[in-house]
Amino acid sequence: MATPTKEAVRERLATIEGPDGSGDLISLGLVSDIYVSDGRVAFSITVPADRAHTLEPLRKRAEETVKAMSGVERVMVALTAERAPGQGQPAQPQRPAQPPNRGPAQAPGGGGQSSGRSGPVPGIGAVIAVASGKGGVGKSTTAVNLACALARKGLSVGVLDADIYGPSMPRLLGITSKPQTLEDKRIKPLEAHGIEVMSIGFLVDPEAPMIWRGPMVVSALTQMLRDVAWGNLDVLVVDMPPGTGDTQLTLAQNVPLAGAVIVSTPQDLALIDARKGLAMFEKVDVPILGIIENMSHFICPHCGERSDVFGTGGARTEAERLHARFLGEIPLHMSIRERSDAGTPIVIAEPDSPQAQAFMAVADGVLEGLDQAQAAARPQPRIVVED
Ligand code: ADP
Repeated sequence: MATPTKEAVRERLATIEGPDGSGDLISLGLVSDIYVSDGRVAFSITVPADRAHTLEPLRKRAEETVKAMSGVERVMVALTAERAPGQGQPAQPQRPAQPPNRGPAQAPGGGGQSSGRSGPVPGIGAVIAVASGKGGVGKSTTAVNLACALARKGLSVGVLDADIYGPSMPRLLGITSKPQTLEDKRIKPLEAHGIEVMSIGFLVDPEAPMIWRGPMVVSALTQMLRDVAWGNLDVLVVDMPPGTGDTQLTLAQNVPLAGAVIVSTPQDLALIDARKGLAMFEKVDVPILGIIENMSHFICPHCGERSDVFGTGGARTEAERLHARFLGEIPLHMSIRERSDAGTPIVIAEPDSPQAQAFMAVADGVLEGLDQAQAAARPQPRIVVED
């Protein structure tokens, strides 16, 4: 059955009263761009920040109304609270009351909220963002190898590809199929090399040009986080869109992140961008787990000789200066790109290679960073001296 057009969805949403009982969602201009593809519909409804928690019934009504349309298999609707002009900084994110734990994943339950504004994701121990100040520094390559390295260490791991500008996880992991929808309407993530995978690339036609707006991205992502039937995961690695614009900030603010990892190349320019990345996460109170220097030095695939093409130690020095953990250097090596292109990350394809070992060491640092962040977030014990 054909998926309805955007216009048809808009018409249907125009039958729903606004939050104050006057006007309708469309005429009040509360509905974001509507995304329609292959039986799926996604959009967000903008509501005042202070009323977001009381407007869940409105969100539900919109979701059910669209779900009832023929040709619609799945609907993702999120409430987004936008800043009123002149209101200054966005509201602080609601950090989880309990820091997400690594180790055995939390038991499911606890009511996943579709707006994604608060609370840890049931069943997921820790959500980690892999970010970069700009594109092309190897963020996705690092994210996928970090995920594989964590899985090799015995953790149950998922990857959420949130890179709207170039979702690459399906290619990096050799996935050609699309995820299935379960009976309870949740999406079943795909599996590759022992990790669970969900990509924004599964939801959009890679050939079709698409303009993402902040609320749309948050809508799609928070629901990919919460309406996907992730198994119990110790860690979910989120491959963020590159850069530090509004979209990235909104994401950092809306996804309950246990921490963020910044990927940089050694050139100074990239480091300046990396600093912006750090500042962005700090602004929204997300712990920085550390900085990774990718393409740190060149290893000749023929003779194995190391050349420090861009100089060396830039990211380490910068990390020290910024009091961030330096998570390690990943060499520029042909096999990393070749294995990525062939759909099996180097950590899996050549586990004993120095390149794979470099990622394994980074994974150790990430876990240490997580432990530290979680310890810092835990309430300090009150010391009582008894007579
Ligand atoms: P980003 O996600 O930052 O845009 P990608 O991970 O897509 O970057 O990497 C860009 C290109 O660089 C890809 O072709 C990838 O295979 C290659 N690449 C990334 N890191 C390395 C590395 N350490 N050695 C060799 N090639 C790399």
